[in-house]
This record gives sequence, C-alpha cells and structure tokens, in this order.
Amino acid sequence: MNSELTFRVLFFVLFIVWHAIRVYYALKGRTPGQKRSSQERWQEAVQREGKTFTVLWSIHNAYWFIAILLYLIGPDWMIWAQLPIPDWIRWTGVGLAVASLPLLLWAHHTLGKQWSKLLELKGEHKLVTSGPYSRVRHPIYTHWLMINAALIMVSANLPLLIFYPFSIILIYKRIGNEERMLLRQFGDEYRAYMRRTGRLLPRFRRET
Ligand code: SAH
Repeated sequence: MNSELTFRVLFFVLFIVWHAIRVYYALKGRTPGQKRSSQERWQEAVQREGKTFTVLWSIHNAYWFIAILLYLIGPDWMIWAQLPIPDWIRWTGVGLAVASLPLLLWAHHTLGKQWSKLLELKGEHKLVTSGPYSRVRHPIYTHWLMINAALIMVSANLPLLIFYPFSIILIYKRIGNEERMLLRQFGDEYRAYMRRTGRLLPRFRRET
C-alpha cells in the first residue's frame, strides 16, 4: 500500500471511530418522555444561537462533509489539494487523533445526559463540575478542535486546512452563546465555576 493510501485509510478509520463514540453517547443521552417535540427544541435552540450562527454552522458542516468526501475519494482533478507535508507530521497527526479519544470518552462519560448537540437545558439539568469539567469548561469542544487539527495533519489537504480558522471562530461563538445560557440558568454558581476553570485549556493562575 502506498503511503498516500495508508493515510487515507487511517483518516477514514479515525473519523469513523470518533463519530461512533459521538453516536453512542447521543443515543445513550436521549431523555425519553420529553414534553417538547424535537422540532420545538430545535427552534428554541436556534433562537438562542441566532439565525446567522445557525446558517454559518450549516454551511460549515456542509463544507467539511464535501471536502472530506472529496479527500477520501481523491479524484485526479483534486491533485492540487494535496500539500507536500513530510510524513512525520502526518504520523504525528495520527498519534494526536488517537491520543485525543480518551479525552472525548472521559468528557462524554462525565457529562452524561446533560450532553446535547443543541444549545439546550434538559429537565432537571445539573451543572457538571467533575472529571475534566473540574479544570476546563468545554472539553468536548477542546477535543473537537484537537481531532480536526490532527485529521488535517493526516490528510495534508489544503481545502480542510484553509477552513480550520473558520471552525475556531464558530466554536468561540458557540461557547459565548452556551455560557450566556448557563449563566442565566446557574447564576453565581456558574460565575464561580468560570473563575476556577479555563475555557478550552486548564487555567494555571487561579483568580481570587
Ligand atoms: N461545551 C461542553 C458541552 C458540549 S454539549 C463541552 O465542550 O464539553 C452542549 C450542552 O452541554 C449544552 O446544551 C449545555 O446545556 C451543556 N453543558 C455545557 N457545560 C455544562 C456543564 N458544565 N454542566 C452541565 N451541562 C453543561
């Protein structure tokens, strides 16, 4: 197997494992007997995030989907998209992606049923401050940025690389929206939690 094909297969396997974990926890986190229909919940979440964000997020996901598909199929006319990156960087990406998966498992396991792909509060929503959440407020988003960076390294694909800054901007916007919602719900408890934790990375200097 030539090395380009090896990286493509590794990319595919890592992508599938990552998404299998997400689907597993999404199914496990379902809350049966919700009073609101999924359409109502979605509409409320869109209101919280704003229409502009929702549109940009949908464009972002569609772009990723198409770019990944084209990378995996690798038609001849996409040859320009392949960056001349040394193999050791691409193998580092493989290592980083594998190493990131335990963080995702730990965060999902800790957040449990409070997880949602939407910006919402479930019935009897509890503030989680244990496990990775004792140091970082958004470990799942940290993981998301980490594995995307790692997969870009594995692929050495230009369309994926040039879009990454846009992902970072959207994640920061999402975090702002999410924290506003959690502050409204948990007030001083969340304010104190923010003082002792970092947003995406642990805080090293404690605020007094
Ligand atoms: N931002 C978190 C969670 C992502 S899932 C992370 O990156 O790990 C998104 C949902 O998680 C949101 O709908 C919000 O209600 C919930 N959430 C975020 N932080 C939380 C916390 N500390 N405790 C409980 N729920 C939280």
